[in-house]
Amino acid sequence: MSMPFCDLKAGYDAHKQELDAAAARVLNSGWHILGPECGAFEEEYAKWNDAAHCIGVANGTDAVELALRGVGVEAGDKAATVSHTAVATVAAIERMGAIPVFVDIDERRFTMSPASLARVLEAHKIKAVLPVHLYGQCADMDAISALAREHGCLVVEDCAQAHGSLLNGRKAGTFGDAASFSFYPTKNLGAFGDGGAVLTNNQAVAGKVQSLRQYGWEKRYISSIQGFNSRLDELQAAFLRARLKYLDAENNRRRQLAAMYVDRLGHIGGLTMPFTAPDCSPVWHQFVIMTETGKRDDFIKSLAGGGIPTAIHYPLPVHMQPAYAGRIAADPVGLAATEAICQRIVSLPMYAAMPEENLEKICAAIDNYYSNGGKGK
Ligand SMILES: *Cc1c(COP(=O)(O)O)cnc(C)c1O
Repeated sequence: MSMPFCDLKAGYDAHKQELDAAAARVLNSGWHILGPECGAFEEEYAKWNDAAHCIGVANGTDAVELALRGVGVEAGDKAATVSHTAVATVAAIERMGAIPVFVDIDERRFTMSPASLARVLEAHKIKAVLPVHLYGQCADMDAISALAREHGCLVVEDCAQAHGSLLNGRKAGTFGDAASFSFYPTKNLGAFGDGGAVLTNNQAVAGKVQSLRQYGWEKRYISSIQGFNSRLDELQAAFLRARLKYLDAENNRRRQLAAMYVDRLGHIGGLTMPFTAPDCSPVWHQFVIMTETGKRDDFIKSLAGGGIPTAIHYPLPVHMQPAYAGRIAADPVGLAATEAICQRIVSLPMYAAMPEENLEKICAAIDNYYSNGGKGK
C-alpha cells in the first residue's frame, strides 16, 4: 500500500465545480491574454497580501528576474542570495546578466544567515539582497533589511514557497522593494500550468515590470525599454482567483498537519523537527525534518519499503551543482551550514488535501523504525 508525496488531483477535486466554472468563463469570454481575469487576480492578490501592486507573469523564475530588473538591478550587478534554494533563484539572477554571490543559511531557520550576509556585504559590492522564504519559513527580514539599508542595497524577496507566511503579522513579500511568487502547480497557491507574479508597494517598480512583461511597451506597439514576453494567461488567472479564496483555509490546514507531525514525532531522539522562529507563522510549503548525519539513506529506504514516500529539498546546494560548481563567489568563510544540512534533511508529505490517515501511517512507520533502533523492521 503506497501513498502519494503530493496529490494534485485531490486539490482539483476539492474545488472542482468552481475550477470548472472558471475555465468555462474564460473559454466563453473570447479573451485569453491580459484580460479581466488577470487584472482581477492582480487586484485580489495584492489586497490579500496588503501590498499596493501585483503584476502577473509567466512563471516564478521570470518573476525573480523581472522583480530584480524592476527595482533597478542591471547586468553586471551583484546579487547576494542563498545556495540552499531551488536552482531557479540563481538561474534567474544569471539570466539577466547579474552575478550571484552566495550567503550561508542560518542552521536552524534554513534561510539566509544575517551574520553570513554581513561578511558578504563587507567583501563584495552588492546591489541587491535576495532572501528566500524557503519551505514557507520566514527569513530574518528585520536583520536582513537593516544590513541591506546600512549598505545601500535593494531587497527582493523570493516568496515562491511562502504565499501567506507571516512575519510579525505581516505577509512575506511586503518587506523588500519587491517580491517574486511562483504559481507552479505544487506551490501553496498553484495554477494548472505555469504562472508567477511580482509584488511591490512601489508604483514605479510596478510600472517597469508591467512594461517588461510585454515587449517593453510603454503603450501598444511602442517599446520604450527592451522587454520580454512573460504574461499570466486568463485561464491560469481565473483558476488562481478561484483558489485564492481557499488559500487561508488551506494554509491553516497545513499548519494543523505540521502541528500533528510535531506532536507525533517530536519525542524521537534521532530526529530534529523543523524550527520556526517565534516571529514567524509559516505556511509549511514543505515539512522538513533532519536525521542524524549518516543515517538518512537508511531512514528513507526503510520508509520507502513500507510504502511511505519522502523527498529531499534539496539534495545538492546550487554551488555544488555541475552548472555552478567552482565559479560563484561565496561568504569568505564558506557555506558550512548549507553543506551540512543538505546531508540530513528529509521532506515528509505535506499538502492541504492530505488525508489524516496518511499522516497517521507515516508517523507510525517512523515510530516503528526508531523503536527498532533505527534499523527498520
Ligand atoms: C518554484 C520556485 C521558483 C521558480 O518558480 P517557477 O514557477 O518554477 O519558475 C523560484 N524560487 C523558489 C524558491 C521556488 O521554490
